[in-house]
Amino acid sequence: MKTKDLGEFELIAKLQSKLKHQSSQILKSIGDDCSVFKPNKDVHLIATCDALVETVHFDLKTISPELLGQKTMAVNLSDIAAMGGIPKFALVTLGVSPNLPPKFLDKFYSGMNMASEKYGFSIVGGDTVRSPKHFFVNVALMGEAQKNCWFSRDGAKPGDKIFVTGSLGDSALGLKILQSPKKLNGPLKTQKYLIARHQNPTPRLEEACFLVKFDAQVTAAIDVSDGLIQDLRHILKTSGVGAKIYENSVPTSLELAKICKANNLAKRPLIFSGGEDYELLFTLRPENAKNLVSRFFKRGMPLAEIGEITSQTGKILLETNNGKIEDGSCFKGYNHF
Ligand SMILES: [Mg+2]
Repeated sequence: MKTKDLGEFELIAKLQSKLKHQSSQILKSIGDDCSVFKPNKDVHLIATCDALVETVHFDLKTISPELLGQKTMAVNLSDIAAMGGIPKFALVTLGVSPNLPPKFLDKFYSGMNMASEKYGFSIVGGDTVRSPKHFFVNVALMGEAQKNCWFSRDGAKPGDKIFVTGSLGDSALGLKILQSPKKLNGPLKTQKYLIARHQNPTPRLEEACFLVKFDAQVTAAIDVSDGLIQDLRHILKTSGVGAKIYENSVPTSLELAKICKANNLAKRPLIFSGGEDYELLFTLRPENAKNLVSRFFKRGMPLAEIGEITSQTGKILLETNNGKIEDGSCFKGYNHF
C-alpha cells in the first residue's frame, strides 16, 4: 500500500492515534483550525523550528524511520536546551511523496512519539502536504523558560569560562562510517556507538535545566549543531568578543580515538568542524564556574571547561596539545547551502 491510496483525513487520523503524551495545558489539540494551550504563569514562551529534507539531511537507506522521527525532535529539542527552556508543544509538517508506504509514516510517528514521552512535550498539530519526490519534515517547537532566566548568545564577556557538555566529533565520525564505501577498521561495537551518536543524539535538556535551577547565570549559550568552532563563532560575533580554546581540554570519546587510530583518520576536523553533536556550549563568569564540572559529574552529566573568552572580537586562538598557539578560524563548520 502507498500513501496516495489513503486519503489525507484517513492519514491524519492514523497518525494522530499514535500520539500518546498530551499535557494538561492543552485546551484543544489536533482536529481544529488551531491548537489552544495555556502557558504557565511566570514564564516566557520560546519557539523554534527546524526542517529535515531527504537527500539533504538524511538518507533513508542508512536511517530507520523510528530513529529519523526521534532525531527530528532531538534537533529541535536541542535548540530549546540552548535557550535554557523546557519543551512543551510541537507542530509537525510532513511532505509526503505519493509512493511512500504508510508503514514508514507509522514508524516515523512512533519515533516522534517516543521523544514526546521521554522529554514530556505534546504534538498538537501540523500539516501534511504532497511532496513530488522526497520526504521532508518540519517541526515547530514551543517551550517555556523562566522569566529573565533564559540563555542567549550575546552576553559573553572577556574572562568568562567556556564549557561544553558530552564529547565532540562522534556524530561526524558516525556519519563518515555510514557513508564510507568500504568497511572501516576497528570493533563493530565501537562503530555502532558512533553511528548511534549520529542517528540518535541526546538533546542536553537536563543539563540546561540544571544550569537554570542552580542559577549558574549563563552569559551565553548555543547548541553545537554545525561544529564547535563555527557555533562558538556565533557567540563571539553576537557578544563582540573573542576566545581562546585549549585543545587538550576539548572532550572526545574513547570510541572516536579508537576508530581514528585504526583508520589513520585526523581527529581535529571531526572535533572542531564536525556537526550534529548537539552538545551545549556556554559561558559563565569565572566566579560562577567554580566546581561546576564536578557538580555536573556527580549527576552523571559530563562537562568540560575548554577555554576562555577574550577581548579580541571574533578572534579564535587555539592552544594546541604541544603548547603552540594557532589561529582557529581555519576550521569551518557545516554549510547549509
Ligand atoms: Mg541551535
